[in-house]
Amino acid sequence: MSRRLGKMKVKTVGEGEGMMPMQVALPGVTGEDLAELKRWYWSKELSQDPHAAVFHIDVRSYVLQLDGMNVLIDTCCGNDKQRSVPWADRLQTEWLLNLARAGLEPADIHLVLCTHLHADHVGWNTRLENGRWVPTFPNARYVFSRKDYEFFGRQTHEAHNREAYIDSVLPVVEAGLADIVESNHCVHREIEDGIWLEDASGHSPGSVVVHAQRGGSQAVFTGDVIHHPIQLVRPDIAFFADESPAEACATRQRLLAQYADRGAVLFPAHFSDPPSGRVYRAKRYFCYEFLALASA
Ligand SMILES: [Zn+2]
Repeated sequence: MSRRLGKMKVKTVGEGEGMMPMQVALPGVTGEDLAELKRWYWSKELSQDPHAAVFHIDVRSYVLQLDGMNVLIDTCCGNDKQRSVPWADRLQTEWLLNLARAGLEPADIHLVLCTHLHADHVGWNTRLENGRWVPTFPNARYVFSRKDYEFFGRQTHEAHNREAYIDSVLPVVEAGLADIVESNHCVHREIEDGIWLEDASGHSPGSVVVHAQRGGSQAVFTGDVIHHPIQLVRPDIAFFADESPAEACATRQRLLAQYADRGAVLFPAHFSDPPSGRVYRAKRYFCYEFLALASA
């Protein structure tokens, strides 16, 4: 999918999809919440029974094209990676082919931005070459947030995210291609417009969202601030994989309120296709209008 937003173009590069019971992903969602969601969102997996409802996620990257730059945002799980969770273990997907279908080779990527350093957002940072993990994008600078780089650098965390740090983050740093930055880092600036990061800690300590603005058009790549549309109906319930549940809920509500007020177009990492849309205030919390942006 390729979409134009003013002078910006956004392409999606899909890797796969997954699902889990709603009550595992977001414990406490009620039938009333699902009925509220159904007013503006339809999915065949979304039963009105909270114990039968399925929480579906797509796994994808985005490529933002702006000012002649190709900016890759999040890099999915990657191929050949040994992981201690089955959903990410030794995958063989068509992600690289999907990048080519979007008209891009790895050498065309100028910047890689990871919204956080979980295993499903850093995998294609590297690929296997002659038994070694080498950076997939040889001409890119890779931007990692300092807080996540330090957090996942410690031994004590969830095994699959620690594994991802070792084979998908460290080799990039060792190759000299990484910039370890603060969570409000400005990536690219052009007279009031540009690309910058904003702190979105909670899902992980160094989670960020990526803002892009050009000529009145605003896009925001929200990473894992939200995974599924039900989280606009219940932004107050912690997602099971949030590292700091209370902080993640506060961040989610703060950022959704900001997006509702400013009218930015969201590009969430894990919504089903087509994912982009705008946030509006609803009776209790928020709702979402999915946007079919102009094809390009
Ligand atoms: Zn994720």
